[in-house]
Amino acid sequence: MAHAVKPEIRYTKAPLPKKVKMGGHALVSEALVKQGATNLVPKVHVKRGDTVKVMSGSEQSGRGKTGKVLSVLTKEGKVIVEGINMITRATKQRTPMGQSGLVKKEGPIFASRVMLFCSGCKKTTRIAHKVQDGGKKVRICKHCKEAMDT
Ligand SMILES: [Zn+2]
Repeated sequence: MAHAVKPEIRYTKAPLPKKVKMGGHALVSEALVKQGATNLVPKVHVKRGDTVKVMSGSEQSGRGKTGKVLSVLTKEGKVIVEGINMITRATKQRTPMGQSGLVKKEGPIFASRVMLFCSGCKKTTRIAHKVQDGGKKVRICKHCKEAMDT
């Protein structure tokens, strides 16, 4: 055979942590992996503590705003960004004198919606890598070459 047969890829809405092999085809989560992509392992390009800018989505869910990444949900390919996509959760307290409270908190958004924001050059940027003298690898801004990790 001239060409190797690619395993069939099926997409599911379920948030799978990684691809699952099932009887000759791979099952991957639609949310994490773009259709047609060959690399089926979801990877979040930002880390906790990074400053990011929301590039897409509705204005209500924070498009155009910047914030700090509070946590990265690798399994779902999502991030929680400070002050972005605020959702109100109603909490019911089942006590006789119970009050129900509304709690505002950040909701997770897809990591693909955000881009890294460089505080040095005030631009959205991508990461380059640099090996320091000690052999330590650091992430630097592609534009201003400033180190992203401090
Ligand atoms: Zn920069």
